[in-house]
Amino acid sequence: MMGGHHAVSGAAAWLAITTNVNLGSVNLGFGLFEMTRWETLAGAIICAGAAMLPDADHHSATIARSLPPVSNLVTRMISAVSGGHRNGTHSLLGILGFALFAWIVDKWAVATESWGVVYPGAAVFAVLLISFAVKTMKFMPAILCWIIAVAGAGFVGMNAPDERSWFFLAVLLGAAVHILGDMLTVGGVNWLWPIKIRAPRWFRKLPVIGGSWKANGRVAIPVLGATGSNAEWVLASALTSYVVVALLVA
Ligand SMILES: [Zn+2]
Repeated sequence: MMGGHHAVSGAAAWLAITTNVNLGSVNLGFGLFEMTRWETLAGAIICAGAAMLPDADHHSATIARSLPPVSNLVTRMISAVSGGHRNGTHSLLGILGFALFAWIVDKWAVATESWGVVYPGAAVFAVLLISFAVKTMKFMPAILCWIIAVAGAGFVGMNAPDERSWFFLAVLLGAAVHILGDMLTVGGVNWLWPIKIRAPRWFRKLPVIGGSWKANGRVAIPVLGATGSNAEWVLASALTSYVVVALLVA
């Protein structure tokens, strides 16, 4: 899946679980989590950025080019640790790693006189995630990218201590949605990495479903075809419309 499409599916997933707005008789969200309006909005953009994170294993992905030269270096390191593209970061272990990282940076709390308790680690991580998400909107001028990133990070850094679970949740959901998205393309993913359960030869020879479980252990439900296919564009357009409507109504 392409970077921008991952980002929009992250935002859509976040709005689906946190909003509970009705458009006529159509329910636009499941409202599983109680959020303030600002948490809904900030969560959508953090989740969109987190939905780009698994491709940090790929040195030419959108996020590698987000903040050069730091981003190039970081993506090379992550790629080395996670065994290359679509391996470690595209697995349950990867989701856990990203969520754990969000949880750890969020533990760094500093008491200040004028602003109360602030969260510098979470704020810096938020700048990164937001810049990934905004970077996918190519029409966005750089100055506006910075304003959005700083405003979002300010919100993450100063959000009340008893209301912080949404940040962790947004990172977790974003990473999971990314992997789901890639599973819908022909390449597929190995959720169980580093465990590799190879498809037996007889399975791979089966008609229709034979390609869904591969010799390299990856599984795919390739309804979108190859990355960047027309089907992927159609899905991304539908998700974008959903995000716009849900944001407007919420
Ligand atoms: Zn990916």
